[in-house]
Amino acid sequence: MNLNKHPGKLFIISGPSGAGKGTIANRILEETNLEFSVSMTTRKPRDGEIDGVHYYFVEEEDFVRNIELGGFLEHAQVYGNRYGTPKQAILDRLEKGIDVLLDIEMQGALQIKENYPDGVFIFILPPSLSELRKRLTGRGTESPEAIEMRLSNTLKELTYVDKYDYLVVNGELEEAVNRVKSIIIAEHSKVIMTPEELVREYTEGEEE
Ligand code: ADP
Ligand code: 5GP
Repeated sequence: MNLNKHPGKLFIISGPSGAGKGTIANRILEETNLEFSVSMTTRKPRDGEIDGVHYYFVEEEDFVRNIELGGFLEHAQVYGNRYGTPKQAILDRLEKGIDVLLDIEMQGALQIKENYPDGVFIFILPPSLSELRKRLTGRGTESPEAIEMRLSNTLKELTYVDKYDYLVVNGELEEAVNRVKSIIIAEHSKVIMTPEELVREYTEGEEE
């Protein structure tokens, strides 16, 4: 039987820098069947980052060429670097019934919402601005000025929350991960069959 079998779905995790998107995305990739969409970026790799695994690290000219070829589902400039979501790899996986997970910032998420409204848009937010400041400081990847810029951007990003399907507050990590996993399950439980299809599938092969 093939009851309510869903096609591949695109899950977009988005939200302010330091919200915990990467941390939650890693857990989801470990604990579910979702596959990660590896983005292209012009930023330099950080220690431990692997080309083709965390990002495709490219030069500006390669990035621009890919825009011209129509190779991105979305792309954006983020704090001085370019980031883009390669289109074909995602379409291939969705077609095979594989769910895909994106970890992207808000400009990109809003572009995808325009072009691909079937995506599931999940906004991740830390419990407070002070907690966000603490986490960004603790991560140690940005200067104090860069952290202040991210905090002021966060306030702007809050005003776009209504573009999203779900809001997950990332207070306690386990709870946030469980909520995202629950969203994935709920999305796959949505009714997509017509009554006629359901009756046909349900009775096929049954004796009269
Ligand atoms: P983003 O990918 O959204 O920029 P990260 O996943 O890098 O955010 O998280 C920012 C920092 O906050 C990291 O140092 C991470 O370890 C920490 N962090 C993430 N989630 C939590 C949480 N629930 N509680 C405490 N610290 C967290
Ligand atoms: P980082 O440089 O810290 O890895 O990422 C910076 C920001 O860029 C994060 O908010 C991350 O979610 C976002 N990002 C990563 N890949 C993409 C992408 O392909 N498109 C967009 N729009 N944002 C991305």
